Formats: sequence, structure tokens, C-alpha cells
Amino acid sequence: MRPILAKAGRVARHSVARRARLFVILICIAIAAGHTWQSLSARLAQVENTRIYSGNIAKALARHAYDVFQATHGSLINISDRIYETGVDPAHTRGMSPLLRQLSKEMPQLDGLYIYDAAGNRMASSSTPRPADANNADRAYFIYHRDHEDGEPHISASLVSRSTGSWIIPMSRRLNHPDGSFAGVLLATLRVDHFNALYQTVDIGKNSSILLVLRPGTVLTRQPFEAGYIGRDITADASIRQLLGGPASGHAEILSPLDDTYRYLSYQSVQAFPLVVTVTIARDEALADWRQQTIVYGAAVSLLLLIIAMFGWRLIGQIELRLAAEDRALQAMGELRQANKQLELLAHQDGLTTLANRRHLDMVLDAEFRRATRSGAALSLVMIDVDFFKQYNDLYGHQAGDECLRRIALVLKERQRRPGDLAARYGGEEMVMLLPETDAEGAMVVAEKIRAGIQALDLGHRGNPVGVVTVSAGVCALDLLEGASRSVEELLGRADAALYEAKRGGRNQVRMAQAGMPAPAPVSAD
Ligand code: GH3
Ligand code: MG
Ligand code: MG
Repeated sequence: MRPILAKAGRVARHSVARRARLFVILICIAIAAGHTWQSLSARLAQVENTRIYSGNIAKALARHAYDVFQATHGSLINISDRIYETGVDPAHTRGMSPLLRQLSKEMPQLDGLYIYDAAGNRMASSSTPRPADANNADRAYFIYHRDHEDGEPHISASLVSRSTGSWIIPMSRRLNHPDGSFAGVLLATLRVDHFNALYQTVDIGKNSSILLVLRPGTVLTRQPFEAGYIGRDITADASIRQLLGGPASGHAEILSPLDDTYRYLSYQSVQAFPLVVTVTIARDEALADWRQQTIVYGAAVSLLLLIIAMFGWRLIGQIELRLAAEDRALQAMGELRQANKQLELLAHQDGLTTLANRRHLDMVLDAEFRRATRSGAALSLVMIDVDFFKQYNDLYGHQAGDECLRRIALVLKERQRRPGDLAARYGGEEMVMLLPETDAEGAMVVAEKIRAGIQALDLGHRGNPVGVVTVSAGVCALDLLEGASRSVEELLGRADAALYEAKRGGRNQVRMAQAGMPAPAPVSAD
């Protein structure tokens, strides 16, 4: 396999592992994102449920507050009408205790009904007076009516009744003389525990609360009841002030100014009265189920992710091992191919001179001969033999002889100028230059250049009369052979005969084969 293709294959295979790893990561991210999304929407749904649930409770309790205050309001109107019928002066109001007692009994929310004169002295009451000479001129509701001329019922902040000792919400009305001047106050006190008894029955959790608030923000009562919270102003907190200043009902998540916990708050204004019911549910409590579910699901999803990641990684590891093994196998295959190529080359090459060997020469000569015969093209062959080489070995040793052959081979290699030219070792110290598309004259020129080039190497040879290593060469060309006897053997034989002639002629020379030249006899080097 070619290196570029092998590299491209390796890159493609490794991108498979990368893509597989990306795939596992994407699956894990998708599962984690899915769980997160599911968990967030479950939280939103839980918050929404809490809002609806607490909003409904606030609505129902506001309706209850309306009924209670509306009924009390009705009885205040009723009593004041009776007072105005008989006269607003103490002589008449002092005798109204039995009426107040009777009306108070009919209304379970009431702690008591009272009439005070313009100086704050109690004129009549629904219960036995305690203390008998009570004066309530210091109470906020009394001061309010004394200073305000309107005859509307007025609700004040919760307080502990001096008459009964219980927590009460005062609802009062101004009494006027016929000339409109202040004549006193008619007071109904609503029992705080009347509201708390109902609020207690609403199951909204341990850390949640219900407030009945007098606008703008004074706490009238709270469930669970805690005296410390009564009378506090929840609008001291700006966000609550803004919330309650808005529409008749609403909701928000708040940090409670009463106990510093996060709560979901729903409120509902009480129709016709400056009252608001708020229901708050602690966030921790509202989200407890959701939290537990999220933890359990989260653990399950984490386990799933862990398993996917572990198996995915192991799988990818195995893929990578296989790819690495494939790489190694491909590399080994490449090396094997390279080695085979080398072997093939060696099979056609002479080990000493690296020229083509005899086997290769035979093959190429055969092919070139047939091609030239077919096409009528020229083909020449130069046969070269080193002069006095036996002596060279004797004088300088076999190794020096080998080196001498290598140097001569280089000259031949250099003369392979055309693509078809082939220099080969024919055997021993004999070499051949095959020259396709070259006629006898051309081959003579090449042969002469080889001869001269070898002499010019100037390799000292005491056994050669010239003093240096020389060669003799015989040249034969296809066009020198008679048509019928044309053959490879004839070509070689005639080149050899020409070489013989060169030896005979004194060596260090080139001879061309002559038509009808006889077969050569060995020439003595001596
Ligand atoms: P001539 O001028 O007539 O060619 O004389 P010569 O001594 O060269 O005679 P011949 O061509 O018969 O010599 C062949 C010698 O070449 C025989 C052998 O010792 C030597 N020879 C053949 N092959 C090798 C070889 O591979 N290495 C070495 N060092 N010598 C070789
Ligand atoms: Mg020889
Ligand atoms: Mg020789």
C-alpha cells in the first residue's frame, strides 16, 4: 500500500474511534440534560401547584373573614340604631347591657359588646364589668373616633381585652349627639381564637402560616399563634409592601420578615374591609417531595451515565486496540511488499557490481531481440572483457580484483544513457552493454567511450603493458547478421568473436564483428 493511502486509511479509522467517543459523550450529555429539564419542569409544576393550593385557601379564608366582619358590622349598625332610638345620653345607654348580652350570645365570634361615653367611661357591656369603672379613653379606636367624624365601622389592631383578658380584634363605631358632636363609642370585640380555631383545621404543613392582616400591614392574628407576631407590620418589608399594594389577590416568593425563611405567599383581600388574608408555605416544605424525587432520579441517572460511560469507554478501547492491530498488520504488509520488491530486484541484480545479472540480461535480450526483429529496429551489443585480469588478481589479490570490477561497472552504468540501455555482468570479469535502437556505428562509439573511460580510471596494473587496467570490447549489431541465421546466440557469439579479435589485436581496443567472421578460439593472456 502506498504511504499516503495508508495514512489516509489510518486517519479514517482513527476518526471512527473519535466519532464513537463523541457519540458516547453526546448520549451522556443528552441524558443529563433530559434529567435536568425534567427536574426543572417538575419543580415549576410543584411551585405552581403550591400557588394554586395556597391561593384557594386564602380565597376561602378571606370569604370567612368577610362573613364574620360583615355580621359584626350588621350588629353594630343594629345596636347604634337602637341607641339613637332611645337617646345617646348615659341615662339611656347605661341600661343597654341586657341587649348587648343577648346579641353577643347570638354571635360566637364576639368576645364582647361595649358602649363608652364621650369621656371613655364604659356605660354598658355584654359581660359583667371588670373592673366596674373601666375607662377606655386611651385605646386607639377611641381616640380614632373622637378625632374622626365619620360613622363608618373601624377595625383596630389586635389587643388583650382589659375586660376579659383574651386576644381580641376591636371593631367600633362612633356615636354622635343629635348635633353631630362626639357622644362616645360602640365597640364589638372579635375573639382572635375564633379565627385561629378555623385556621388550625387547614392542613398546610408544619412550617407554613396563615395571617389575617389589617391594611396596610398590621398582623391581627397568625396561625400558628405567637403573641410576638401580633401587631407587627409586615409591610416594613418593601417587597411585601409592593405586593399587597397591588391587585386584590396575588402571589410571590418572599423572604419572610417574621422568621427569615423563604416562603411562597398567596394573599387575598377581604371584600369591603381593609383586611387581607395571607397564606405562606415554606419553600423547603413545598419542594420536599420534589427534592426527594430529584435525588432518587438523579442517583439513578448518574448510575446510568456511569454505566454508559464505562461500557462506552471500554468498547472504544477495544475498537482502538483493533484499529492499532489493523495498523500494525497493514504496516507489516507494506514492509513485506517492500521486502519482496527488494528480493525481486536482487534476483535481477548482480551482487558484486549491482549491474543486471545474467538472468536479467537473458530475459531483456530475448525481448529486445524479438521486438527489433518484428519492427526492424536496430539493436547492438557490446561485450567487454578485462585485460590480464588473472594477473591483476595474482598481483593485487582477489578483493582488489572485486573492487576493480565495481569501478569498471560504474563506467558502464554511466554509459546507460537511453531508457532501454542495459549494462549487465555476463560472467566473471566479462560485461555486456545492450543498446536497443542503436546501430553498429553508434555501438562502436559507446564501446570506445567505455574503453577510454575505463583506461581513464587509471587503476594501476603492473601486469598490463599499458600500466593501468584496460578492457577489450567486441561489438555486434543486428544488421550485421545474415537474415536466416539471426538469433540471440548468433548476436552474442559474433560479439564474442569481435572481442576475440580485439584480444588478438593487442587488447585495450574495440572491434566490430565482421560478416562471416569465424567462431572465436580462446586467446592466451601470456
Ligand atoms: P585476457 O586479457 O586474455 O582476458 O586475460 P585474463 O587474465 O583476463 O584471462 P581471462 O579473461 O580468462 O581471465 C579470467 C579471470 O578473471 C579468471 C579469474 O581469476 C578472474 N575473475 C573472474 N571473475 C572474478 C571475480 O568475480 N572477481 C575477481 N577478483 N576475479 C575474477
Ligand atoms: Mg575473460
Ligand atoms: Mg580477461
